Amino acid sequence: EHRVLSGMQPSGDSLHLGNYVGALLNWVTMQEKYDAFFFIPDLHGITVPHEPAELRSRTRNTAAQFLAGGIDVERSTLFVQSHVPEHVQLSWILTCITGMGEASRMTQFKDKSAKQGADSAGVGLLTYPMLMAADILLYQPDGVPVGDDQKQHVELARNLAQRFNHRFGETFRVPEPFIPEVGARIYDLQDPTTKMSKSASSPNGRLNILDTDKKLAKKIKSAVTDAGTEIRFDRETKPGISNLLSIYSAVSGKSIDELVEEYQGKMYGHLKVDLADAVVARFGPIRDRALELLEDPAELDALLARGAEKARAIASPLLDDVYAKVGFLPST
Ligand code: ATP
Ligand code: MG
Repeated sequence: EHRVLSGMQPSGDSLHLGNYVGALLNWVTMQEKYDAFFFIPDLHGITVPHEPAELRSRTRNTAAQFLAGGIDVERSTLFVQSHVPEHVQLSWILTCITGMGEASRMTQFKDKSAKQGADSAGVGLLTYPMLMAADILLYQPDGVPVGDDQKQHVELARNLAQRFNHRFGETFRVPEPFIPEVGARIYDLQDPTTKMSKSASSPNGRLNILDTDKKLAKKIKSAVTDAGTEIRFDRETKPGISNLLSIYSAVSGKSIDELVEEYQGKMYGHLKVDLADAVVARFGPIRDRALELLEDPAELDALLARGAEKARAIASPLLDDVYAKVGFLPST
């Protein structure tokens, strides 16, 4: 069975519709076909300044939403990165075979360190891609589903795998980035030319899984629309309506063409009311289930501990092999 691996940072208070359509829904499909590993990269979450209590609650929140959204721990392996120490252990070795220039050319490092000021940015921002390479290489996946923003990091993981194999002997499978059958890209409701994101400034621009029904409806009602009255899909001249149509299509399963047909001659307001119902119908049960899971953190933590155990069963022998190849003295 082919193995795939994917992660999502615990960077917001809730997953939003973009995360749901662009990632979680694909994961749920993937676990049917593949031996799937899903993890919450909390170690990556501290590369920028953070609140400890917040990180903890966001990590649990994220896990609860994955489970409520359909990740089945009988079929796939769901774990928290920091529970599997092999990630950090391997990342050190990979860091030592990465060139300084190679690391500093990563565009995310350049962007994020520029934001924080090059001198005060943590070194973790620089070494983050080596940790990500470790995340991938430990599990020898056949594919790594990634978006555009992560392609460069997977490329680095490939280079490091080849370099290690060349220097120390065949060890890692060279990972293939695999472009998942993407769900639509979802845009901000208040600014439909930028993507919906956890870190966007306006909370009204994103539809969160954990939002109340009322809040979801309100955000959709106040979504920015476009000049004119016609409901059709045109990203250029009608970014607002096009985004609402994408969202509607994603949560209802109807095609954009079907929806355009259905709303011919109707007003923006109609579309918004029906869309709100559709989003609430989709998110409501997931939110309720997630909140239920969060009421029993011990049970949730136990599920994650079992996931970590499954992950370590794969990661630990691989790391032993790496340690031996590098020349570390066996500890037993
Ligand atoms: P941040 O603002 O912290 O970067 P984010 O909202 O962009 O958060 P990520 O954690 O970067 O979320 O991404 C998690 C997953 O969700 C990725 O697979 C990413 O491709 C997907 N994703 C994020 N935003 C969208 C979006 N607007 N439309 C479709 N997919 C998205
Ligand atoms: Mg992002």
